[in-house]
Amino acid sequence: MRLPACRWIDSLRLPAGPMEIIRTVEWMKQVSRRARAEGGLLGFVPTMGALHAGHVSLVRAAQRECSPVVVSIFVNPRQFGPGEDFDRYPRALAADSQLLESLGVECLFAPEAAEIYPPGFSSHAEVEGISARLEGRTRPGHFRGVATVVLKLFEIVQPWRAYFGRKDAQQARIIQQLVRDFHLDAEIQVCPIVREADGLALSSRNAYLSAEDRRAATALHRALAAARDAVAGGERDAARLAAAMREVIGKEPRAMADYVEIVNADSFEPAACVRGSCYALLAVFFGATRLLDNMLIEEKDGEARCEI
Ligand code: AMP
Repeated sequence: MRLPACRWIDSLRLPAGPMEIIRTVEWMKQVSRRARAEGGLLGFVPTMGALHAGHVSLVRAAQRECSPVVVSIFVNPRQFGPGEDFDRYPRALAADSQLLESLGVECLFAPEAAEIYPPGFSSHAEVEGISARLEGRTRPGHFRGVATVVLKLFEIVQPWRAYFGRKDAQQARIIQQLVRDFHLDAEIQVCPIVREADGLALSSRNAYLSAEDRRAATALHRALAAARDAVAGGERDAARLAAAMREVIGKEPRAMADYVEIVNADSFEPAACVRGSCYALLAVFFGATRLLDNMLIEEKDGEARCEI
């Protein structure tokens, strides 16, 4: 078995060696065990592949703080419901691995589904409460699949820090809860949303959009900007902020809102007004494609700061 070069020994900082592509759980565990024994601070970026600049920002964040960095690519069948896009979800392993190698990532963990869910697999992780709301209401079982695969990946990779995008704010919150509840060692870092020049948040699912829907999808960012402007103008009432976002979505004939909500950033329960940390959350259909976006609102002593 070939192990990645010892880039994680600070004083050496050797140039990036070839990236290790790991397909089995046992091999990944051995590499991770060895890295930690050599004093490595293992950074982990779990993804479903079809990598874009949002994923790259997570890799860069991991590389600033950790060495070695492990990226996983696994289109997790258990987080897709029946009739969802598991079969057509974009898969681009060759291009993804080239990109990761060019970034200097040490290890790519890309297991087959049967490696993660061998015959007879029957255990699951469920984060109750938060998982039932918003994404969980529209996609029953989704977060059970996410929590289960993240618990498994953390057990296999044993990261020091793991990097998630705020793009999937509810998912990041659920994983923080999972880590807390199961006494997992990984520290969770939540990174900012990376956007296209016109404000659309990068997503592997943007590839599904027709040219017209792609143009229409800027309504997500415009809706958040409307809420941000209202907050800047002193509005703190959650219903009025949600109405401002709905108005923008409503004016876009190709958009159909699934949910538009202001929630408490800890509980993900609906907020009556902007207080402490909140999220403005949107899930909107453009044709058959459902896109998510959000804005973090941090309020303290009446002052509110919005991060889109
Ligand atoms: P996915 O491959 O869609 O499962 O996403 C893998 C990770 O990348 C998750 O933590 C996502 O939240 C994060 N991510 C996806 N899109 C973006 C984005 N536009 N900006 C920042 N992070 C993102």
